[in-house]
Amino acid sequence: MNFIMISDKVKAMDVSGVRKMFEMASKIKNPIDMTVGLPDFDVPEEIKGAAIDAINSGFNRYTQTKGLPELREKIVSKLLTKNNISTDLDNVFVTSAGSGCLSLVFSSVLDKNDEVIIFDPYFVAYKQLTLLNEAKPVFVKTNPDFSINFDLLKEVITSKTKMIVINSPGNPTGYVSPESELRKLAKICSDNDLLVVSDEMYEDFVYGEKHFSIGSIYDKTISVFGFSKSHAMTGWRVGYFTGPKEIIDAATKVSQFTFVCAPTPFQHACVKAVDYDISNYVLEYREKRDIIFNGLKDKFEIFEPKGAFYAFIKYPYESEKFISDCLENNLLVVPGNVFSEENTHFRISFANKNEVLEKAIKILNNLIK
Ligand code: PLP
Repeated sequence: MNFIMISDKVKAMDVSGVRKMFEMASKIKNPIDMTVGLPDFDVPEEIKGAAIDAINSGFNRYTQTKGLPELREKIVSKLLTKNNISTDLDNVFVTSAGSGCLSLVFSSVLDKNDEVIIFDPYFVAYKQLTLLNEAKPVFVKTNPDFSINFDLLKEVITSKTKMIVINSPGNPTGYVSPESELRKLAKICSDNDLLVVSDEMYEDFVYGEKHFSIGSIYDKTISVFGFSKSHAMTGWRVGYFTGPKEIIDAATKVSQFTFVCAPTPFQHACVKAVDYDISNYVLEYREKRDIIFNGLKDKFEIFEPKGAFYAFIKYPYESEKFISDCLENNLLVVPGNVFSEENTHFRISFANKNEVLEKAIKILNNLIK
């Protein structure tokens, strides 16, 4: 197709750098792939069984736009007990995983030229969805340990700022925002009447820290959650969000003409997934975090990831040479400029078998003379 037919807003978007690495990985024989953004375990058997039962029982048609009431009911109580967010059935929206939630929220809220504050480093979708909605991403560099730099934040808030995106536990950094930091952020948002989008896709993956939901203290928050990472169902496409009623209503309108609903059998399976205990997996991931952190901390500038399953590590030398040295050793990592306006770090995922982690550590340490 003639490139001229593509909209300016889509031309302004970048191709996903993580996808580019996936493509590269497919060309290398037996790569040590540290780029993966999904758990290395499979969907628990009981939940798989629930999906199969749902299909066999004929739950194969549309659900309500906002999702299956039984599932939303379960989510309402989960939000109260686990996140301290008090909401009701009407204000829980189940849709096509975390990406679907973000897409509906950004398109429901943003107008042309609105400013969206994004902490850098950031998860790739925030910038691209902002551009897709013709709004302007405004990046705020975080401190070296990836905590919020409040001085820089205050400098960029203008009358055009509409929302701030926060992601804890964070991809690509593994940083977990403590309650005190989120309280400080909530105060600034309240003073400036800003909306918060809080992406909590990795809420279950915290190692010693307590996950805190800003939506429990600031009511202009849209809190986004999903089953993709916690239950290893990235292909099933179920996630949910809650927030101010006006935004839920607007998202309902948008969804009626876009996603329509999340896949019905998988919504049924998620009724089981909400209560499914994944703490054993989390313990295993904590061990993986320890393997990576202890294996690399002597030779690399690395902050101990407190959550998610990523480490964002400073390049030990010139970035292009470093990435190509990794490739020469069959090792795939993601260059930091995929997640940042700068290119100072690289991301590795520790959602991998322990022996793969050990191999990667050996290669990385051998790169440093
Ligand atoms: N938010 C963050 C921070 C992520 O890392 C991801 C996926 O990597 C998503 C949202 C989207 O997840 P989903 O697969 O549920 O669309």
